[in-house]
Amino acid sequence: MSKLINRVGRVVAPGVVEFLKRQVEEAGPHQVVVKIVSSAICGSDLHIFKGKHPSAPLPVTIGHEFSGEVVATGSEVTKVKIGDRVTVEPVVTCGKCMPCRTGNYGYCEQISFTYRTGNGAMADYITVEEAYLYKLPEHLSYDAGALLEPLSVATHAVRRAEIEMGEKVLVIGAGAIGLLIAALCRLRGATEVAIVDFLPKRLEMAMELGATTVINPSEQSVEEAVKELTGGSGVDKSFECVGMEVTFNQAMMALRKNGLATIVGIFEQPQITIPATRFITHEIRVQGSQGYCWDFPVALEMSKYIDLEKLITHQFPLEDLQQALETSIDPNSGSIKIVLHP
Ligand SMILES: [Zn+2]
Ligand SMILES: [Zn+2]
Repeated sequence: MSKLINRVGRVVAPGVVEFLKRQVEEAGPHQVVVKIVSSAICGSDLHIFKGKHPSAPLPVTIGHEFSGEVVATGSEVTKVKIGDRVTVEPVVTCGKCMPCRTGNYGYCEQISFTYRTGNGAMADYITVEEAYLYKLPEHLSYDAGALLEPLSVATHAVRRAEIEMGEKVLVIGAGAIGLLIAALCRLRGATEVAIVDFLPKRLEMAMELGATTVINPSEQSVEEAVKELTGGSGVDKSFECVGMEVTFNQAMMALRKNGLATIVGIFEQPQITIPATRFITHEIRVQGSQGYCWDFPVALEMSKYIDLEKLITHQFPLEDLQQALETSIDPNSGSIKIVLHP
């Protein structure tokens, strides 16, 4: 196994990706070597590609949404065998801090992600801990399996927002996470799910996945649209899936009194200005949502009701990673999810 050469994609400077070539890491007793079949580009990979990710300085390996086949197992591994189709929860936790020991590993004091520790999945192979593996059920292809990670980000946000039957929801941003959040809100019983984006292709996709109203701010202001939708009172819940000052403000201002906004976007500009008085006058609540904690099992169940492959607009061979990333940041490409195949 260790004789095999592994190409590992790495962003070395803003806009520049190259491949490290190194031997495949041997599986330790509790580890598994996965031959990657499908690896998707995430919004966070794009922040890294631009050199603007707040917690992943360059150079850094990329790729954390993937699926593949088990090709080697460590001596103590019992959960999977060679030939199993799997996906991986790409977190790294210490297992020792209080949050880890009480099961809240999402709050681990040392939390990191496999790609940030040099173990990127824009690669031929990846060596991972058995504990974070999930077998792909029959109904999921390798491509759909690669999207369980973003689906878990979405289940985490929707569970935190405690969406209830009959609620009206506003989702700002119809990238993969926004689209999946909209779909999950409907499945959880929200009856109105309005979604905002400038790109008509994405809004079309949103309707197919379960959104009830689309808002294109180049045609109608978000404020106006929310007023129409709610008779002026505001939505029960909102989700910010962009990461900008203007959209953060929209997520706050769209809420009814005592409404709840959940912030999911990654902010390249960490300092923003918000209308603080609104917290008091409307008793609104704003919370963040990051990553996942025991969300993969939930996402696996919910994947029975969401056509994940629908999100995949482009596919590239792994060697074209540079071109795939450029396509991904090009607003005219119509891309939602781009998948690479080694
Ligand atoms: Zn991701
Ligand atoms: Zn920990």
